[in-house]
Amino acid sequence: MNEIKKLIDGFSRFRAQHYEGNGAAFKRLVHHGQAPKIMVIACCDSRVDPAIITDCDPGDLFVVRNVANLMPPCETTGHYHGTSAALEFAVRFLEVRHVIVLGHTGCGGIRALLQGVSGKDDLGQFIKPWMEIAAAARTKALAETKTKQSTDVERACEQAAIQVSLTNLLSFPWVRERVEKQQLALHGWYFDLENGELRRYNPANNNFDSLAAVPVNHTV
Ligand SMILES: [Zn+2]
Repeated sequence: MNEIKKLIDGFSRFRAQHYEGNGAAFKRLVHHGQAPKIMVIACCDSRVDPAIITDCDPGDLFVVRNVANLMPPCETTGHYHGTSAALEFAVRFLEVRHVIVLGHTGCGGIRALLQGVSGKDDLGQFIKPWMEIAAAARTKALAETKTKQSTDVERACEQAAIQVSLTNLLSFPWVRERVEKQQLALHGWYFDLENGELRRYNPANNNFDSLAAVPVNHTV
């Protein structure tokens, strides 16, 4: 049970930091509610927690995480649209100013999209249809990656999937309206785990540039 003990010990430190001593900021959040300015759509991958890698505090980020950090298109069917619900809450209720789609290298979801989920019986029954959101990214990566090395195709697909999600964000009318009025900015970020770099999609050159090289206030 050492795995769980780590969490319990961690909560003790969190409690000491935010409820005792210098805990005024967190208490304010508790009593007055959250007002984050940034929503992040991140992957479930345990290595890419957005608050940890950006060293943010409680109240800074409104986060939804799903397999491969995908934003589905706007659909009004009666299904369980968890990510769309999070987006609606962030944009229409919290009125965040930024939405960041945060992808990363070595994404297992993207690998499943490219290689398929092989296994017995119903293995992958939820992952497969979910990853089809990024089918266009797979097509693009396979067509445009010259080397055909599997890692190169994966990197290209991870980045193309971020672009698909940015496009899908604009299929929500209340997102598009706010982007056009410059009340909301959309960002595509890519965390390179191997090199410890954060890259940002630059629509001017269609590349993922090092974070410092792209103006902060761009939108797609
Ligand atoms: Zn991932």
